[in-house]
Amino acid sequence: MEIEKLKCLIIGSGPAGYTAAIYAGRANLSPVVYAGLQPGGQLTTTTDVENFPGYPQGINGTELMEDLRKQAERFGADIRYGVVTAADLSRAPYRITVDGEKMLETETLIIATGATAKYLGLEDEKKYAGMGVSACATCDGFFYRKKVVAVVGGGDTACEEAIYLSGLARKVYLIVRKPYLRASKVMQERVQNNEKIEVLFEHNAVGLFGENGVEGVHLVKRLGEPDEERYDLAIDGFFLAIGHKPNSEVFKPYLDTDETGYILTEPGTPRTKIPGVFAAGDVADPHYRQAITAAASGCQAAIEAERYLLR
Ligand code: NDP
Repeated sequence: MEIEKLKCLIIGSGPAGYTAAIYAGRANLSPVVYAGLQPGGQLTTTTDVENFPGYPQGINGTELMEDLRKQAERFGADIRYGVVTAADLSRAPYRITVDGEKMLETETLIIATGATAKYLGLEDEKKYAGMGVSACATCDGFFYRKKVVAVVGGGDTACEEAIYLSGLARKVYLIVRKPYLRASKVMQERVQNNEKIEVLFEHNAVGLFGENGVEGVHLVKRLGEPDEERYDLAIDGFFLAIGHKPNSEVFKPYLDTDETGYILTEPGTPRTKIPGVFAAGDVADPHYRQAITAAASGCQAAIEAERYLLR
């Protein structure tokens, strides 16, 4: 099998991957980027990004990622479609397999594979996949115009999804397992001031029902140990917004990760324990998980890769 040899391979095409590509391209590392399952990353599934510096009016997530891609290409990044299916990081140069068939050998590797939405783990989530269950309000919200939906979660994502859906749906329930929201103050206020959103604190979704798609959710309300109340709520759509799982599976045999799977790096740097292998963005960041922090760590990773190659 023919092996393509590279100086710098970047896996992932979110803000971390593309920023790494911009810097690596400008440093003449001829970076190759594999875009992964979701080209453009998580921002392509959101609406407006209001907190990325430089856009006083906000910018559409897909547009922002298109601009980053063009900027990376302008400096020579070779952006390809494909998913990394195997890795051998036991010795340099490192070997990466794409789509189970293409083999690459790279002197430096920047892992910017991001994170994927989590599900509750209910059988019914699978049963109703694509029939009323979704982990992306901006992708699927359109189907719930004037309908009733529920969003699970109490963080910023859940609030953001609930607010977005309130612009389409007739009514939005926010199902929160704790007696409070974890989201930032500004998001909490927006939720509380939104007449269409009703927050169900101390509630857990334990199942879904419906003949042809979701028609309702089975809920358990905590009333103080050991009491609880079980009841059903009629809904048309069930949205998950309970956090994310880092996409680090392929690299786990070689790199240290925390219990959730976030790749561990030297504090304040994208350096993993393997020289020449760097992790940037959400795959290595359980704390901030912002587009701008991902972009910054992508920049750091490219600078590190350049220095490593000079040595
Ligand atoms: P978070 O981890 O912040 O919140 C996850 C939420 O889901 C929590 O309320 C958690 O409950 C709940 N949850 C987790 N597992 C379950 C479960 N099995 N059953 C029921 N509820 C569950 O994730 P987010 O995706 O909301 O945010 C991730 C990061 O991204 C945060 O740092 C956030 O600030 C940031 N962010 C920022 C935005 C912005 O600034 N515009 C927009 C979106 C995200 P509990 O509290 O009980 O653990």
